[in-house]
Amino acid sequence: AEEALRQAQKMEAIGQLTGGVAHDFNNLLTVILGGLDTIRRQVSTLPGSPTTERIERSIRMASHGAERAATLTARLLAFARRQPLEPKPIDAGRLVTNLADLLQRTLGETIALETVTGGGLWRAQADPGELENALVNLAVNARDAMPGGGRLTIETGNAHLDESYVAQVAEPVAAGQYVLIAVSDTGTGMCAATLAQVFEPFFTTKDVGKGTGLGLSQVYGFVRQSGGHIRIYSEVGEGTSVKIYLPRLLNEGLVPESETAAAAAVTH
Ligand code: ADP
Repeated sequence: AEEALRQAQKMEAIGQLTGGVAHDFNNLLTVILGGLDTIRRQVSTLPGSPTTERIERSIRMASHGAERAATLTARLLAFARRQPLEPKPIDAGRLVTNLADLLQRTLGETIALETVTGGGLWRAQADPGELENALVNLAVNARDAMPGGGRLTIETGNAHLDESYVAQVAEPVAAGQYVLIAVSDTGTGMCAATLAQVFEPFFTTKDVGKGTGLGLSQVYGFVRQSGGHIRIYSEVGEGTSVKIYLPRLLNEGLVPESETAAAAAVTH
């Protein structure tokens, strides 16, 4: 599981890098192809001569090369593009319970995993696979922050973000009902300077080969794309708590009255 995790993180890093380079390169190729096209049209108005022919042949070759390069970057982009999110109704409590074994194996024997999932939990609307990835990422970070052992607590609950809370949050968050997944460790914690940078891609305080600095930026991207909110509380020497708020699935179980009546009529 350890090696698979490392491999997945490596692929993620390669994917992000490849995608970024391919995207920028593609923009440059568009400029080159556009320029060549303009030159070709200008040259075609010139009187025919051996020189004109040589220029036209050069333009054809350059265009051909640039077009092949564009095909190549298109393939690279297809490789690097991450699967689009597939939001579904999620029972976060059950998802955490089902993931507990894998998380415990990630944490190792010296870290105790505690899951606190009460009843009456609203359902969230998000991609369950990505939420699992996020929790594994958070567990890896917690493990690294607790080299001498400790405790990881994952708690789920219903949460209301009110107007006064969302007003003091940096990024736009809608006030309303959310499903909270709080992941708290008893590790080293972070100083304010580190905490301010944790969502930056490639920001890491870990040794080369140990951290990619993509874990939390990935988690952040998933939460934001899901219409949710993430906040990290950390105290040096005390521990870290990552709070993920995913939007509540609205209108669940609210069956229109006429349908209820119809269903009742069928049953009886
Ligand atoms: P990586 O784990 O590869 O370094 P992340 O984006 O997941 O990348 O984390 C960035 C940095 O945030 C880490 O290098 C570490 O300094 C800090 N960090 C993340 N989670 C925790 C945690 N639970 N406790 C202490 N520090 C953390």
